[in-house]
Parts: sequence; C-alpha cells; structure tokens
Amino acid sequence: MAEESDEIIVQKPPFQTPKGVHDILPVDHEYHTYIKKVVRHRARQAGFRRVSTPIFEFTEVFKRSIGDTSDIVSKEMYTFQDRKGRSLTLKPEGTAGVVRSYIQNNMNQLPQPLMLYYYEPHFRYDRPQKGRYRQFWQFGFEIIGESDAALDAQIIQLAYKIYQDLGVDKVLKLQINTIGTAEARKKYVGVLQDYYTGKERSLCEDCRYRLKTNPMRLLDCKQEDCKILAQLAPIMKDYLDKESLDFHEELRGYLDEMGLKYEENPKLVRGLDYYAKTVFEFVEIEKDQVAQNALGGGGRYDGLIELMGGQPTPAVGMAAGIERIIASMKREKVRVPSKDDLHVFVAQLGNEAKRKCLPLIEKLRNAGLKTMGALGKGSINVQLKIADKFKVPYTVLIGLTEVREGNAIIRNMEKGVQETVKMEKVVSRLVKLIGEKNLDRYTPGELLYS
Ligand code: AMP
Repeated sequence: MAEESDEIIVQKPPFQTPKGVHDILPVDHEYHTYIKKVVRHRARQAGFRRVSTPIFEFTEVFKRSIGDTSDIVSKEMYTFQDRKGRSLTLKPEGTAGVVRSYIQNNMNQLPQPLMLYYYEPHFRYDRPQKGRYRQFWQFGFEIIGESDAALDAQIIQLAYKIYQDLGVDKVLKLQINTIGTAEARKKYVGVLQDYYTGKERSLCEDCRYRLKTNPMRLLDCKQEDCKILAQLAPIMKDYLDKESLDFHEELRGYLDEMGLKYEENPKLVRGLDYYAKTVFEFVEIEKDQVAQNALGGGGRYDGLIELMGGQPTPAVGMAAGIERIIASMKREKVRVPSKDDLHVFVAQLGNEAKRKCLPLIEKLRNAGLKTMGALGKGSINVQLKIADKFKVPYTVLIGLTEVREGNAIIRNMEKGVQETVKMEKVVSRLVKLIGEKNLDRYTPGELLYS
C-alpha cells in the first residue's frame, strides 16, 4: 500500500495578465482586422505606405523627441537596461520611432513629402482605467517634408474619413488650436507662469510640478480647480507671431473648403513637446469633461527632425487609439463582418472513413471552404452535435457504406435534409452550395489584388 503523504498541496491561483494589459480575444480581432483594412484602404488611396519601427528603442530617442518634462517621459515609460547596461524603452508613441527611422534610412532621398502610416502596439505606465491601458494600439499617419497647411488639413480629413468608415464620426467632434512656433511660445509660457504664480495652492499636485516644467499642460488639466484657473488664464493666440496665426487661418480655410466641422479649443495643447503650430484632437462629444475622451489627435512637428539629428524638415502627423475606437464602435452597435465562421464540418464513422476524410478536408480547404472535422471517435450523432455547436451550414458524413460505395452524404444542417454525392463531386457540390463569392480562397495571383 502506498504511504500517505503529509505534503499539503497548495493550489496556486491561475496566472493573470499584469495590470493594464489585455488579451485580444477572437471577437475583438474581428474589429482589429476590420479597422486595419479600413486604415490600409484609406492610406493607400492617399499615397501612404506602411512602416513598422521596433517595439523598443534607445531611451534617448523618446527623451529627446517627446521631451524630458512631458508626462510620458517623466513618469510613463517602460524603461529597462539590457544585458550590456544600455537603456532601452518600449515605445510609448509612434512618431519618435518613425522620425528616427526617417533619418537613419536616409528617407529624405525619397520623393518628398514622404507619407507613412503605422498600426502598432504602444506602452505607457499610465494609471489603468476605462480607455486607458498600459499596452494599447494606435494607427497613425505622418507626412514628412512639406510645410503647407493644406497637408495638416489633409491628414485631419483622412482621419475623419476613417472614423466615418468605422461608424464613429457621429460621436466625435474635431477640436483645433495653434500653439505657434517654439520661438513664439516662449513669450506666452512666461506670461502663463506669471499668471499662475501665487495661485499654486489651488492647483493639483501634478500641475504644481508642471508649472515649473511644462506650464502649458496646466491649460488642459481635468481637475476642477485647475479647470477654473485655466478658464481665466491668458489666451495663447494673443501672444503668438503673425506667421503662426496666418498658418492657422490658412488651415481653417482649407477645413471650411472641405466642409469639415471643427471647434476652436484655445486650451488644447497636447502632451508632447514636439508639436508646433497646428494641434488637433477628435474628442467624444458626450464626454467633454472627462479625461479619456480623445479617440485620436495630432499636429505639426516642424522642428523635430532637426532636433533628432536630421536636416531641418517640416512634418505633420496624427495617431488614433484603437481600443477607444472599438469601444465606441460597440457602443454605437457597429457590426463588423465576421470572416471566421466555418462552412463545413466533416463527420466520419470508423477508421477507414477517417482516413478518407483527411484528404477530403484538405481539398475542401484548398477550394476556399472553411472546414473542420475528423475529430475524435464519437458516434455520428455526437459529431453532428459538435457541428451544430460550430453553427456550420453543411456537414459531410462518411460511414462504412459510403467508403465502400465511393460516396459521401452532404447534410444541410438548417433544413435537416441530405443528399448522397460521389466522393469526387463533394468539393464542387459544396462550392456551389456555399457560393463562389463566400469562399475564403486566394491564389498568390489574387492576393496581389486583395
Ligand atoms: P496621444 O499620442 O497621447 O495623443 O495618443 C493618441 C491617441 O491614442 C489618444 O487620442 C487615445 O485615443 C489613444 N491613447 C493614448 N494613450 C492611451 C492609453 N494609455 N490607453 C488607450 N489609448 C490611449
């Protein structure tokens, strides 16, 4: 007899994801696939090409571009040392990496303006809450090498078109502002600091710190007391230079021409240091006063490429938050096509039939019929129940008699009727029943045009 063990088996709790990160389950992948296709389609129409930069870069890439005093760099980066002690950071946003890549790969030699887009995960050590995660996906557009306000307008129009395609344009409003050139902004920052001096006690802790490091961020703080003070703060436009103001007027003219509705928000500053002149955001109308209300935003960053070591080169870009778009799509009950539904289940009885099934399954799949089958050893009834659970429209049944006679039975699962067909006709019959246009088939030739 085996000796009883004294050991107490402690059941460990199952693993969980770290706070603020999520699995993308199959149902959400349907949204991602759809969004990615819409973005790709609209990007191609406008002459953009896709770029992917690494998930991590040297920390300095983000510090120099986004700015030491920004919230992202000062408290939200996932920074670590590699085995040789080099400081690396998971990318918290897309533009810095794209600009690094532009310079490193001499993309200034390509026809300008260079129009690039991305669809990538990003990482910020943010306080997780609804709409704010530690890993989140963004798609974004960058136009590098042209300083015309018409391009700011085009990038806004492109983003708007995508929100429209995705069915969330109705919940959004576009807000625009100009924060002027870096030079012109200096004067305003001084005025702002003077205004807030003596009022520190009414500010939240973050804003007290920002007052020393990045005073413009005080304008878009969502804390009640800070908001009241921001309301009465001097207006940026009153301190900007003529060039910045003219540029903004031009942008407004283009937006009007395209019939795009917008609202001026003089408090819109955005959190990244590299912006100059145009800044914009698409915010949810219903959530005017809450923090996580933007579905995307961007602006002009004319000084960034030079700051990162390249030639002085103007540029404009935008990024959109995919989780927030998906949440809006769900709220708006936007349905996305599900391409994962199966067409055919193949059920068999006996080993010989199972052997015949495997090449048949392969042929059905090659013909573009989404097929599963040859599962286990259950009775035909058990297998039919599985087929029902997978909601397949057709089941192919092969038993001993069918093998002997070279036949198969095709069962219409909804109507419960079935027909016997010759084994070699099963594929063509099912293709007909499912319909050519519903097949999931591509040859490399067709792939070229998909
Ligand atoms: P930003 O570059 O911070 O303006 O981000 C652009 C867009 O990405 C925002 O408008 C949001 O839609 C989305 N986004 C930014 N940070 C997060 C986050 N922590 N979690 C989810 N989405 C985010």
